[in-house]
Amino acid sequence: MFFISSRKSRSTLGLKEKCAICSQEIKLPFKPMKEWGIEGTLCGDCYSKKIHEFYPGDHVRVNKHLD
Ligand SMILES: [Zn+2]
Repeated sequence: MFFISSRKSRSTLGLKEKCAICSQEIKLPFKPMKEWGIEGTLCGDCYSKKIHEFYPGDHVRVNKHLD
């Protein structure tokens, strides 16, 4: 008896990462900050939402200087 794991091979076809928060495909990945306690990658929308959650008012967009 053997099983063909079609799911496994399928997952290698679409290598696009999914956002750890909204689970949508990520066009432009952002790395969450350590203090957010999030595993994985974030989309731009969720990233900027998190920025506002953690640093309300202070910074509007600080993404660029991370890399
Ligand atoms: Zn997202």
